[in-house]
Formats: sequence, structure tokens, C-alpha cells
Amino acid sequence: MKIAKFNGKGEIFYTIQGEGKSLGKPTVFIRSSLCNLHCIWCDTDYTWNWKNTPYPHVFDQTPGYEKYDKKEQIVELSTAQIIEEIAPYACKNLVLTGGEPLLQQKAWVELMAQLRKKDAGYWFEVETNGTLLPSSEFDALIDQYNVSPKLENSNNSMKIREKPEAYAFFRQSPKAWFKFVIAQQADLEEVLELIKKYDLPSHKVYLMPEGTTPEQLKSKQSWLVEQCKQYGFHYTDRLHIHIYGSKRGV
Ligand code: SF4
Repeated sequence: MKIAKFNGKGEIFYTIQGEGKSLGKPTVFIRSSLCNLHCIWCDTDYTWNWKNTPYPHVFDQTPGYEKYDKKEQIVELSTAQIIEEIAPYACKNLVLTGGEPLLQQKAWVELMAQLRKKDAGYWFEVETNGTLLPSSEFDALIDQYNVSPKLENSNNSMKIREKPEAYAFFRQSPKAWFKFVIAQQADLEEVLELIKKYDLPSHKVYLMPEGTTPEQLKSKQSWLVEQCKQYGFHYTDRLHIHIYGSKRGV
């Protein structure tokens, strides 16, 4: 599997889940590389923003920022190597993240199947942008979909960010929960439209403030909590930002 490379190894780390339905749960994260979208504010742009690609990023104006060399950002790990990496952690909750993990479903299926065979107590969550359909094999093994559809502010065209067939799949899955990142009123209005269009149940929707510092998160908190109260959504923080800041591998 193509895993994001960090400190010369695959980006696999034990932490707590900082967002959404499983917030606060001790969890091992496995960060796969590659993404089919290119959000302008993506904070894991080292999984897709390769040299000689045309996608703009908010960091483009930051001195020293440049697009990534694909070869330097990916490490290819076998299922056995990933199992060896996670073995030291006393934790059976795994989050498959990215990038967009559903681009590498076959490899995840092999990993999940082998881990379940060793221990039926493994719990698997996947963080997805909600544009790709899971295979039946993947769906049979996964416990929870954390679906985070992207809005207009991501700078992805509607054609690539909004896939009706994927919304329909996740709408009917009892394992799927939706998480929307909200920066401003216009984002909320867009989310309300999407919820109406795809008939998403409000009790399965989480709204999360946009921000990569505690100050940015706190500045939107009170307003967003009021919106959640009004529409019956869940509010979710980004707990890891409060604890660790915006850092990789924690
Ligand atoms: S979908 Fe996620 S990983 Fe992909 S570009 Fe957007 S924020 Fe980044």
C-alpha cells in the first residue's frame, strides 16, 4: 500500500481520535498517500500536491513552500509490514485515513481481513471525502465511515466533489456519519442544501469549525454550537489541535 512517508517511515501513529463520532477514542492512524481531490486548504497536501501539477494551494504564497516530489513522499508497505508497525500499540481501534483511503481498497481489505483473523476485536474506521464507492469486500469489513464531503470553498469543481451515487450509498449505510467543515455562513447554507438534496438525517451530521489553531477554532465555536442546536446536528471540535497543535504524526 502507498503510505505517506514521515521521518523516513510510514505515517502510522497512536493517538486519540480528535474529530467526529469517535472523538476521544484511543486510535492508531494509518495515513495512506494519494487523493482524487485537491482542496485548496488541504493540510495533508503532501499526499497529492505533486510537482508539475496545476492545483493551487493557500500555501503557494508562503515563502519556502513548494509542491512535493511524489517519490519522496510515499513509502510502499506490504500488509505484513503494516501489521508489524502497529503491533507495539496496545490498541485495536484503527483509522484508515489519507489522502483518500478508498483509492486503495484492495490493500485495505487485505489488511483488515488479516487483522480480524488474528483478533475479532479490531475496529476499523475510514475517513473519506465521500466521492468514491466502497467495494462490497471493503464494506463488509469496515465498522464506520467518517464521511467528510467537500464544499465549494475547497476549490474542487462540483463535478468531482459531489457524486450523487456516493451520497446515496453513504445515506443508506448504517455505518456512515457525515462531517462538514464550516468556516462561514455560506458554508452552512451549502451544507443545508446538500442535506436536503440527499436527504441526510440530521442526527448523523456533525459540524466542525474550520481552523488549525485553538484560537481559530474557538472563534467559531459559539456561533456553530448555536447552529447545531437550531438544526439538530452534532457539534464536533478538533481535539488534537487543542492538545498537540497542527502537527504531523500525533
Ligand atoms: S479530500 Fe482530504 S486529503 Fe484530499 S485534498 Fe481534500 S482535504 Fe486533502
